[in-house]
Amino acid sequence: MRGNRKRDTQPEMRIRRRLHSLGYRYVVDRRPLPGRFPVADLLFPRRRVAVFVDGCFWHGCQEHFKVPSTNVAYWEVKIARNRSRDIQSTQMLVEAGWRVVRVWEHEPNHVAVARIVEALAD
Ligand SMILES: [Zn+2]
Repeated sequence: MRGNRKRDTQPEMRIRRRLHSLGYRYVVDRRPLPGRFPVADLLFPRRRVAVFVDGCFWHGCQEHFKVPSTNVAYWEVKIARNRSRDIQSTQMLVEAGWRVVRVWEHEPNHVAVARIVEALAD
């Protein structure tokens, strides 16, 4: 199954390494709102920036998500649910004063890092 590994994915590791080498410090797999979902992949608590690195399959990337050939209805519902949960999570965090950066796993590393750095600079 594609993208089944939630933690420490390759795109996430590349982003972490690059940010670290630029001098940014963050915590990993942490909840911006204690005791509540979601869990951010990278969190900059002081600057209130939460980063999510979304896998193309599980998060329903419009460029790369393809419904598996079996259990089509199941997957359509499942991924649609994931997508709406992502939107709700983002909204909830923004309302709580967080800046949210959602990165696709297919984004070139320098593009993803530039977007995160931009959010950190504001
Ligand atoms: Zn994609």
